[in-house]
Amino acid sequence: MEQILARMSEESAQPGLGKAAAIPEAWKSHIATDLECPSCFRYGAEIVRAGRSKTDGQVVRQAYFRFAKSGAGTGHHPFCDFAGNVPAGHTPENLVLFSTAKDGVSRAVRELVCKGIALQVFEQRDIRAMREWFFRQKLESQFVVSLEPKLPGWLESLKRYCHWNPRRPLRRFVLSDDVLRIPDFDFRAAARAELSLRYQPILEELFEKKVFIHGMASRIEKMATDFQDKSVFDPTVLSERYGLTQNFAEFIYVNYAPLAKLGKDYAPLASLKNPKYLLAFAALLLFISDWQPDVAVGKFARIASAAVPVDESLGNVMGLNPFHDFEAWETLKVLQGLQDIEVPMLTVKEEMEVWITDARRRVGLYQAYDPQAHTPYPGCHSTE
Ligand SMILES: [Zn+2]
Repeated sequence: MEQILARMSEESAQPGLGKAAAIPEAWKSHIATDLECPSCFRYGAEIVRAGRSKTDGQVVRQAYFRFAKSGAGTGHHPFCDFAGNVPAGHTPENLVLFSTAKDGVSRAVRELVCKGIALQVFEQRDIRAMREWFFRQKLESQFVVSLEPKLPGWLESLKRYCHWNPRRPLRRFVLSDDVLRIPDFDFRAAARAELSLRYQPILEELFEKKVFIHGMASRIEKMATDFQDKSVFDPTVLSERYGLTQNFAEFIYVNYAPLAKLGKDYAPLASLKNPKYLLAFAALLLFISDWQPDVAVGKFARIASAAVPVDESLGNVMGLNPFHDFEAWETLKVLQGLQDIEVPMLTVKEEMEVWITDARRRVGLYQAYDPQAHTPYPGCHSTE
C-alpha cells in the first residue's frame, strides 16, 4: 500500500500524503478499478489506513486493501484465498512473495526469479497467468468435505500401535490363564495383537490404498473441522503435476550451488527449512513450459548459467506454490473414500489398556499393574 501511494503522489506531482491526510477521491477510484486481488482477480480495492492507538499513536493495525461487498464492490470470490475473516496484512500460505530474502532459500530463489525476468525467460505477466490458471483449477475441481475430524488421529495411532502384514497373517494364540501367567508374559504385545485382529479390515485397507497419515493427522483434523460440509478444491487433479514439480525442484536444488549447500543430499526438499519458494519457482518454470520437464530444465539452465547483474526490484511480484498442503488435502480425500469407519469412544491406547487391565485381573495380577499407566473407564466392560 505504501508503494502505490508513493507512486501516485509521484505521478500526480503531489507531495506524499501525511499519515492522517485524506486520500483524494480520484486516487480512490483509480485504485478501485486498477488493482486486482492476487488470488481471485476481482476489482474494487479500498484502502484501509493503519489503525493507531488513541493514547500513544502506536500502529495497532497495519494498513491494508479491503475488497468489500459494498457499492460497486463484489468482495472476494468465495474460493479466493483472501475470502472470509482473514486478518489485515494476511498472506495466504500458498502465495509466495518473490521479493522476500529472509533465509537462504528465499534469497537464492529471488535471484533466480530476477535473473529469469532480466533474461526474458518469463515476465511478471507469466507469474500472474499462473495464479489465474490455478484459480481456474480451483473453480473447476471441487469436492465436499465430509470426513469425520476425529478419524485421521485415530487411524494414525491405530497404525502406530497395530500391525498388518500381507505376507504373514496374524494368528490368535489361545491366551489361557497358564499362558497369561508366564513370568515375562508381554501384555502390551498381546494387546497390540488383539487390536490388530479387531481392526484388521481397516489396517488392510490402509495398506492397500497406501494411506500415509504420519505427521499429518492434526493438520487434516483441522481442515476437516474448518471445511466440514464445504466445497473445496480437489487437489488430486494436480497429482501428476505435483510429482513433476517435486522432482524438478529437487533437480534445481541439486544443480544450483546456492541452494545445494542449504540442505542434505539424502532429503533435498524435506531438509530445506522453507522449500515453498523453490516449489513456487519450479512450478513457474514448468507452467511456462506447458509442464514439459525437458523444456523447463532448458530454461533453468539458461538462468543458472547466465552472468547477469541481479536487479532485485524485478522480484517484486507475488508467486504461487499451487501445492501448499497438497499431501494433507490429498490424504483427506483418500480417507473420505474409505469404508465407513465409526471412530470408537476410546483412543487406541486406552483400548489397549482396558484389554491389559482385564487380562491381568483375570489371573489375579491386577494389583501388580502400574495404576499410573491407565485410568479407569466407568461404563467400560470387557472388550470381547
Ligand atoms: Zn480475492
